[in-house]
Amino acid sequence: MAKQPMREPIETGCPDPFQYMHPTMRKNFGMWKYHEHPRPGVLKHIAFGGDTIWTVKAGTQRILDVYTLRTLCDIGDQYAEGHVHFTLRSNMEFMVTDEAKVQPLIDALESAGFVVGGTQNSVSMISHTQGWLHCDIPGTDASGVVKSMMDELIDEFRNANMPNRVHITTSCCQINCGGQGDIAINIQHTKPPKINHDLVANVCERPSVVARCPVAAIRPAMVNGKPSLEVDEKKCICCGACYPPCPPMQINDAEHSKLAIWVGGNHSNARGKPTFQKLVAAGIPNNPPRWPEATAIVKRILQAYKEGARDWERINEWIERIGWPRFFEAVELPFTKYHIDNWRGSRASLNASSYIRL
Ligand code: SF4
Ligand code: SF4
Repeated sequence: MAKQPMREPIETGCPDPFQYMHPTMRKNFGMWKYHEHPRPGVLKHIAFGGDTIWTVKAGTQRILDVYTLRTLCDIGDQYAEGHVHFTLRSNMEFMVTDEAKVQPLIDALESAGFVVGGTQNSVSMISHTQGWLHCDIPGTDASGVVKSMMDELIDEFRNANMPNRVHITTSCCQINCGGQGDIAINIQHTKPPKINHDLVANVCERPSVVARCPVAAIRPAMVNGKPSLEVDEKKCICCGACYPPCPPMQINDAEHSKLAIWVGGNHSNARGKPTFQKLVAAGIPNNPPRWPEATAIVKRILQAYKEGARDWERINEWIERIGWPRFFEAVELPFTKYHIDNWRGSRASLNASSYIRL
């Protein structure tokens, strides 16, 4: 008997994006000649074949509720041409092939409460993680930080007044997502975790917690006759990695979990190599609901960048040109010994081998 043909695997990954693309974009894929920036929030792309498409960008929140999504899609159906597109930084873009449709689309978006902008040399929407909704280790509400900051930076999103584009990120823990921006606002724990020894034996798999620590600071221990864990506080770098596999190792703390600001990160681009971020402000209060201290520092950095950078210099290029001492002067931030990590001594403090040291 002939063999039955094998069933094709079911592809459950990301669907083919071409089926959802605006037909003019699909037709001209890879064939765009140049683009213009007629006004903040609008891009005009011209294809080699002569087709033109206008893209209007509106700021939207990272996680959209169904009501807002329907509102945006209705605007897309009524004022655009039935296609939308999400950007990397959670903005929504609408495409039209007729210039006459651009202003009515902008009016519809603005009258529904959305802000049009975020293109070219503006501050784009802050990209952020969403730990409170889906993750096990958040130390702050990154979305709340974004909302408070963007409320104050709305004019920098709406207009294109920066020397070049500025990408800002926030992340809700110290170790995982986020950080891919010109300015990054991250949580910073400053004290080792406090262990609730009564719960460790019931809740935690001790070997996985021990393995999780990047500096081998956690050891199994018997406490009050029960199996538990202990932390060598001299080694602990307060990263927070032990808290997800072992919630009784609580590290979040209203007073000692702070925010830190890093600047100058940039993926590779056409002009230079990728650059790492560097810490510029530490110990900033993690102060909900409006985080005024962190916002004030970000605004100072943006103001100094706006005043001091040459046209089209990104933040990292500006700092590299003027030097770090002048950067600290310009943003009026103190330079302290905590800003320097030359990795001397890392042989002893970092777990550089594949073995777990107990
Ligand atoms: S930044 Fe940390 S807490 Fe926030 S979502 Fe990412 S891993 Fe989770
Ligand atoms: S995982 Fe991080 S916070 Fe936990 S003990 Fe190790 S260094 Fe300290």
